[in-house]
Amino acid sequence: SYGETVTKDMIDDMAKKHFPMCMRNIHNALRRDRQMKHQGRLQYTLFLKVLGLPIEEAILFWRESYANDQKTQDKFNKEYKYNIRHSYGLEGKRANYPARDCRSIITGNPPGANESHGCPFRHFSTSNLQSALSALYGVPSLSQDMSDILNAVEAKQYHVACTRVFELTHDNQGMAEGESVSHPNRYAARSRELERE
Ligand code: SF4
Repeated sequence: SYGETVTKDMIDDMAKKHFPMCMRNIHNALRRDRQMKHQGRLQYTLFLKVLGLPIEEAILFWRESYANDQKTQDKFNKEYKYNIRHSYGLEGKRANYPARDCRSIITGNPPGANESHGCPFRHFSTSNLQSALSALYGVPSLSQDMSDILNAVEAKQYHVACTRVFELTHDNQGMAEGESVSHPNRYAARSRELERE
């Protein structure tokens, strides 16, 4: 983070401008379904923490993101809130949990039905990936860029595919010299850095 506080109201906009596909996928699923399974919540909570979202804002963000019925809100108060505080090191072992890096996300448990965690480059079918690249990042379906990305995925070079998407959406500016995407928070930080330049 830049020592600047991120608030819950900034997240929709930041997701569009600065988040890698794994986090945009989770964000959009949360907005669409108004619920999120455990692994997705964990992946996103830790990412938002490292992005600079303070605990109070995180609790408000998640509470508002969830459906507003009594059953869900009871579950929120009994269980989800504890899990969020746990991710911030405020419960249990009080460990300062890091956000997951690409390697851990890519090699971790693949998402099952109704789950949104994971890395879209690794875990989406080719056709879903292609649609998501067009819809979320404006990569034209039949373009050379699309072929390059899908070829990288085919070769299991997921970080290369993700780096290419970063470049395409940042006027061909990339990560730092010789760097490819290895952490979702690094992706977001670099994107915010370029916006400031
Ligand atoms: Fe997220 Fe990393 Fe996959 Fe990019 S390569 S979508 S940052 S897990």
